[in-house]
Amino acid sequence: MPANPMTLPRVTYSNIAEDFAAVHDHLDVLIPQFKAGLPADLRPNRIAARNDADGSVYKAVSPIDRDIVLGTFVEASPGSLDRAVKAAQAACPGWNALGWQARVEHLERVAREFERRKYEIGVACLLEVGKSRMEAVGEVEETLDLIRYYCAEMTANNGYARDMKRAFPQERTHVVLRPHGVFGVISPFNFPLALSVAMITGALVAGNCVVYKPSPMAGLTGHLLIECFEAAGIPAGVVNLVCGGATVGEALVNHPAINGIAFTGSHAVGMRIFRSMAARPFALPVIAEMGGKNPTYVTQSAEIATAAAGVMRSAFGLQGQKCSSGSKVYVHNAVYDDFMQALVKLTRAIQIGNPEGRAIFMGPVINREAAERFDKAADSVRQQGRFEIGGRRLSGGLFDKGYYVEPSIAVGLPDDHCLHKEEQFLPLLAVKQFSDFESALADGNSVLYGLTAGIYTRDERELRLFLDRAEAGVLYANRASGATTGAWPGIQTFCGWKGSGVSHKGGLGPWYVPQFMREQSHTIME
Ligand code: NAD
Repeated sequence: MPANPMTLPRVTYSNIAEDFAAVHDHLDVLIPQFKAGLPADLRPNRIAARNDADGSVYKAVSPIDRDIVLGTFVEASPGSLDRAVKAAQAACPGWNALGWQARVEHLERVAREFERRKYEIGVACLLEVGKSRMEAVGEVEETLDLIRYYCAEMTANNGYARDMKRAFPQERTHVVLRPHGVFGVISPFNFPLALSVAMITGALVAGNCVVYKPSPMAGLTGHLLIECFEAAGIPAGVVNLVCGGATVGEALVNHPAINGIAFTGSHAVGMRIFRSMAARPFALPVIAEMGGKNPTYVTQSAEIATAAAGVMRSAFGLQGQKCSSGSKVYVHNAVYDDFMQALVKLTRAIQIGNPEGRAIFMGPVINREAAERFDKAADSVRQQGRFEIGGRRLSGGLFDKGYYVEPSIAVGLPDDHCLHKEEQFLPLLAVKQFSDFESALADGNSVLYGLTAGIYTRDERELRLFLDRAEAGVLYANRASGATTGAWPGIQTFCGWKGSGVSHKGGLGPWYVPQFMREQSHTIME
């Protein structure tokens, strides 16, 4: 008898040692079923819980195999976008008047809806992004926990309301955080569920309404997640979906009735949005979470097998397309040969292919542009350094129908090479040797980004130095499941420093939700 999906073990990004055979058995049945049921019909945008097909139509295909059509979507027209913002604006007073307790109840129902459809939505994410089974199902689990965590924070903080001290017995003051109004939510392709739902939930639980624009590569999961909000009974207009790319995103940012933007994506786009919002007559909130370089330090005292496993998983999980992907590793001279030998051995053993399969660790990169960026970076490595392993695009069979590249480790590059300094968002790891740890740390800090950093050491002094000096919001030490990746709501917080964020508060943690609110003090004479 097939297992009840509700009783299968939870997949998180770091419980890699558990037995997931029952999850795989379930997915073996579900994946072909889901593919067979992929609707060929148009998927219109959703405005005030109604279809809106105004705009130009585009087809999305899977990066795994361009013959798999994920759906046909509508790039929202300017009129459609305007209707979405107005629908959100109209819904705001009612949604806010419900009070935070009722909003929490609504959102907890959304979490239950996601839980009920967990595997189906996970399969959509696998096909849309090319994620491995574990990454895809893990993302839906993270989505559930994100909703529940932000609801729990709202509750633990009593809706962010406090009584203040009295200056006089007859005067009382109460302070409260209140919503801004309509938030535009703009999300990236790589975690289309967790990050979209995190931003939407943060905005909604705080009492705002939302116009949500997914990545143009992620319309399918965008639609499925809106179905979950609607099925859970979120009132019409509270969350609206407009598909499309940069043009729709820019129109959303520039819409005069928007009261704030929550964005996750690249540094270039995030900063563009930040600057464009700053040109308004008064400041509106921009919560922008952006890219990372994510250096890891393997010191002389590191446990080599753990370090190699953690670096490999961090560099090549999801094909290096995580904001927290470890794309640079500093290795002490004394352990360099041993570490490289272990890392190359693990990298050689990676199974690349169709992520529908059980054992596949790496699927395709997201699209043709990503594969072309890989080719360009690989050429530059061959000119200025060399590959210890990898560096080629894969071809033949399925590889010709999607975008598959090798997990690649580059060495001997000049200090100012783009692989040392810029986010590539590809399975490209640059390695650098060091003899002095403090100088290595300073070099690792000398990038635009400040998202995550990792270390492998058994030396207390080195660990202290790392924790004191690493310029990043998320630090990890001695993790085999990922040198710099694998954050979880309520467990790690995820704050981008420097060019990785603008608000200096992170997702997944206790200071996320208040960012969607503004403070008001009520002083009343009794
Ligand atoms: P992207 O910046 O290309 O696109 C992100 C979103 O912005 C998409 O929905 C896109 O359509 C939209 N957009 C593009 N141009 C726009 C414009 N001019 N105005 C408004 N919206 C616009 O990013 P991507 O390739 O989808 O995602 C990868 C990036 O996201 C990487 O840099 C990664 O590090 C980052 N990321 C960061 C985090 C984090 O938590 N810090 C998490 C995931 C991804």
